[in-house]
Formats: sequence, structure tokens, C-alpha cells
Amino acid sequence: MLSFDNTEVSFSGKSDSDLNWSYRLFKIIGNPTIVKIGNALTKFALAIRFPIKGMIKATIFKQFVGGENIEECKKTIEALGKYNVGTILDYSVEGKENETDFDACAKETIATIDRAKNENHIPFSVFKITGLARFAILEKVSAKQKLSAEEEKEFANVRERVNKICKHAHDCNVSIFIDAEESWIQLAMDNLANEMMRVYNKKKAIVYNTFQLYRKDRLSYLQESFLMAEEANYFLGAKLVRGAYMEKERKRAKEMNYPSPIQNTKEDCDTDYDRALEFCVNNIERIALCAGTHNEKSSLHLVELMKQKGVAASDKRIYFSQLLGMSDHISFNLAKAGYSVAKYVPYGPVKEVLPYLIRRAQENTSVKGQTGRELSLIIKEKKRRKAHLRSTN
Ligand SMILES: Cc1cc2nc3c(=O)[nH]c(=O)nc-3n(C[C@H](O)[C@H](O)[C@H](O)COP(=O)(O)OP(=O)(O)OC[C@H]3O[C@@H](n4cnc5c(N)ncnc54)[C@H](O)[C@@H]3O)c2cc1C
Repeated sequence: MLSFDNTEVSFSGKSDSDLNWSYRLFKIIGNPTIVKIGNALTKFALAIRFPIKGMIKATIFKQFVGGENIEECKKTIEALGKYNVGTILDYSVEGKENETDFDACAKETIATIDRAKNENHIPFSVFKITGLARFAILEKVSAKQKLSAEEEKEFANVRERVNKICKHAHDCNVSIFIDAEESWIQLAMDNLANEMMRVYNKKKAIVYNTFQLYRKDRLSYLQESFLMAEEANYFLGAKLVRGAYMEKERKRAKEMNYPSPIQNTKEDCDTDYDRALEFCVNNIERIALCAGTHNEKSSLHLVELMKQKGVAASDKRIYFSQLLGMSDHISFNLAKAGYSVAKYVPYGPVKEVLPYLIRRAQENTSVKGQTGRELSLIIKEKKRRKAHLRSTN
């Protein structure tokens, strides 16, 4: 019986000093006041060019980010690979709005594919379409509004960038995820993903779309996507996540007076997530699946479904994925039991990765003084190591 309780396995890659260091970091970011002040101070210091880059790099960056560029991620790729945990290089530069930056992002994504093609420990690449397109153009296409001639040309450039990346992934035989984002730009992105899958997923799933099960309509959309794949005879790549923009989605729906697309409760979200896992495993002949989750119950549910369906742990059509620096108890225990696991390893210049780091800090801030999930696991492992040392002396 697989369990995520084994902290010895979870932290096998961490020395005592690494563990102490993570303990101190999670203790600090567990304090909401410090996170609030730290967030404002960091933004201010970077804006006035105060030299704090080194400090960020040596602290929170070290826990959650692979490096400033692909080369700097080498150590992380090797450290994870030693325990059969793969890496997904995630160029985490956000909020760009001009064609030069979009071309640069496409070029960087192609560089991650090149890095993956000769490397056993990098099973996937990934990109966000907002790294390649203006948010407003995606919004307009998703709302099915008429584009001007100039906008038509702009969107043709977006399609061209997406196609170039997916074609390169196909030619290098490296599978690639397209991340999901806000619901009001998702239709344009779903259409692009479907178009790419139709072309490049003829023999296996190269391109994966992402399904956010915190949306009420995504389980049925997953089923619809499967029917499209059946009809046009291609493989469906499905990354299943709960969804990262809940507050923003609810706020917009309220402000603009339309029904929120988000599930009414966490339980509804969990139920749809697990139903989506079941749907994928039951249709594994045509669907390749990645469960992008830190939820222990859903991860164990997927293990159970694989057993029931007779799918081998090592079957590469099913991957589990977590973010670097989080939920190592899930990643390392699954990998040790022979399942296919890969971590998202974000990278990019310190200033550019800052929004990502702030989100991670906020996610690990304690709710009403409770000790967070990561911190509890670290404390448990510190205690285990101490007891082990005592018993061997
Ligand atoms: C490898 C990986 C890839 C990812 N890729 C994407 C991506 O492409 N797009 C994206 O949007 N996110 C992505 N995420 C983030 C993901 O969507 C979640 O925000 C995050 O993983 C937390 O959800 P969980 O499944 O780990 O578990 P849990 O901690 O069990 O669930 C938390 C999540 O449940 C949902 N939720 C919480 N409360 C409620 C409520 N009251 N009602 C309804 N729903 C609720 C929210 O989605 C929340 O994030 C990714 C995560 C991982 C690990």
C-alpha cells in the first residue's frame, strides 16, 4: 500500500543543512505579516534598483526555482533525476505585452525542447500562451468579437508561434503542455490546443491541453475533447489541475454580474477532479494524462485507478506532477514506488520570476496560525532524523 507518510523518502535528496534551511524559510513565509511586508519591500527595492537580487536568489528562489537560465537548472535536474523524479523546465516570465518579448519567449520554449530531447530526466516541456500573445487579443478572440485587419495579423503571429513550438516538440519527440489560464481567454487557447493536437498527436500525445476542474464546465469539456479526438483520430493529451485563478474568477464574475464559472464548493471541485481522473484512466487507449496536483487523496485515487485498470506504474501515459519545492512527500514516494513523476522547475531572471515567488509564499502562509503542510512534513523529518541519530549513537 503506497503512503505519502514516509518523510525519510520524501526528503532523501535533502541534507540536514538543506532541511534546516527549508524549515527556516517555511517558518518565515508561514507568517502572513512578514509575507505582506516582505512582498511590498521586495517590489520597492527592485524598483529603486536596491541590490537585493543576491539575497532573493539565496533564499526563496533557492527553494522554488531552478535558476536564472536553463544552464543554472542543471544541478536541480540532476538532483531530482537521482531519485527518478523528472524535470519540466518552466520559463516563468509573465506579463509581457510586445511582439519582441513574445518571439523571445517562443525561442526560449524551443530551447527547453532542445534541452529535453537528449535528456532522460526531462519528460516534458511547457508554455503559457500569454507568454506568446497579448492578453487583450486572446480575450477578444475568446469573446468571438470581430478582429481588425491588424489584429487578424497579430493573431496569425500567435498561431505561428504556437505552431512553431508544437512542431518542434513533435520533431524532437518531446511532449509539451499548454498551461490553462483565466476563463475569459481560455476559448482561444483551447482552440489552438485542439488544432495542434489534431496535427501533432496522430501517433501519440505530443501536445497536452490543460483542464481546470475548479470550473463547473470542464469535466464535460474533457469528455467533449475526447470525442473530438476520437472523431478525428488523434490522441488526447490531458493535464488535469484544479485551477489557480479562483479569487480572480469569482471577483470578475461578481463585478461584471455573470454566474461564476467556479464550482460552488471545494468538495464539488474535488469530485470533478477525481471523476476526470477516472474518465482518463477508463479511456487510456486514447488519452495520455498528467495529474498536476498536490492533493494526496487525488494522487492516491489515481494510483488505485491504475491498479484497478491494470495499468503498470511505469506506464508513461500517466504522469504525476508537482511544483519544485512543494509536496516532495508525494513526488518522491510515488517515484520510489515506480510511478512516473516530474516536477515543474520554474526558471528565469530573478525580477521576472518574482510574481511566481510571491504566489508560492502566499500559498504557504498559515491560515489562522496553523502550521502549513510543507512545514509540518519538515518538522516530522527533523524529528525522525534526530531520533535516528540518538538510536545509532
Ligand atoms: C504540475 C502543476 C501544473 C499546474 N498547471 C496549472 C495550469 O496550467 N493552470 C492552472 O490554472 N493551474 C495550474 N496549476 C495549479 C493548480 O491549478 C492548483 O492551483 C494547485 O495545484 C492547488 O491544487 P491541488 O490540486 O494541488 O490541491 P488542493 O490543495 O487540494 O486544492 C486547492 C485548489 O482547490 C480549488 N479550490 C479551493 N477552494 C475551493 C472552493 N471553495 N471552491 C472551488 N474550488 C476550490 C482551487 O483550485 C485551489 O487552488 C498547476 C499545478 C501543478 C502542481
